[in-house]
Amino acid sequence: MAPRLPPRGFFTKSRFVPNSTNIGRTRIDEIRGWNVSRQVIFSCYVSSHSGRHQRVDECSHCLALGPPASSILLGTVRTGRMRLLVLSDLHANLTALEASLDAAKGSWERVVCLGDVVGYGPDPNEVTTRIRELGAATIRGNHDKAVADLMSTEDFNPVAKMAVNWTRSQLSNENLDWLAALPQGPLEAEGVVLVHGAFQDEDEYVFTPTQALEGLLDSSLPVTFYGHTHHQGGFAYQDSQLEVLQLHPRNNEIRSVLRVEAEKRYLLNPGSVGQPRDSDPRAGFAIADLEHQVVEFWRVPYEIGKVQERMRKARLPEPLVHRLSLGR
Ligand code: ZN
Repeated sequence: MAPRLPPRGFFTKSRFVPNSTNIGRTRIDEIRGWNVSRQVIFSCYVSSHSGRHQRVDECSHCLALGPPASSILLGTVRTGRMRLLVLSDLHANLTALEASLDAAKGSWERVVCLGDVVGYGPDPNEVTTRIRELGAATIRGNHDKAVADLMSTEDFNPVAKMAVNWTRSQLSNENLDWLAALPQGPLEAEGVVLVHGAFQDEDEYVFTPTQALEGLLDSSLPVTFYGHTHHQGGFAYQDSQLEVLQLHPRNNEIRSVLRVEAEKRYLLNPGSVGQPRDSDPRAGFAIADLEHQVVEFWRVPYEIGKVQERMRKARLPEPLVHRLSLGR
């Protein structure tokens, strides 16, 4: 059956792409920003397809409508089955961030960040700018706070304190203002809850089941992501049973998959992009597809030597340089 085509002129630039001359896959965010619903697109456009095609980019009818049309449909359909990239503890490591984004390219639609955008690493402006460009819903970490002068560095070790001072001296006013304005977790975003450290205290670490319990019980949504420990892993809770989850991919594997069960509550750590401490130096992050009850935990190798070179050039403390190779 031939698809019912939209009236002539329905998909004009002025109607669907007011600020854009290029509507390819890269403009999906812009399309989403207008709240064009899936129903509107399908009923006005290719009503005979409604609900039948999971992937419009594989549909001959939609493709026959030409690149602008299939792009719009693709964007809208993908909104409905959103995959969420979860980044944490980037720590001004641009090489690790770019390697992560390259590896995950095409596998996500929205992105969130659990804080510690800066601190320790050599690229505070570049990483802050990149996260801003990505449009990530971001909460603050303790390093972001310290750099923005929102907390004292009294509790920081001397090496971390030095890195905070160096980072502050490097950041542009604009990036510093952006970091200073980051909201505190817990924050609901994209269907999950974001916290940097513990649920009730952003600066506390969550390593043990006891420390995880309040987040599992008090969070407003079934899945909460946390960072701060730089350890990929997590906890699940159901009927007074608390489970420690081993989510770290094996050394020869790039990802592991967690099946999310509807009756359980989860507290999950995507790992650290920029300074892993769980004995695997590869950059860590997660991709959540809650509609399909899946969270993937990724580990991606990157050129650590390049980052270390920039750190030494910047005279950042040697222990910080060395620990990147160890992943500890
Ligand atoms: Zn951190």
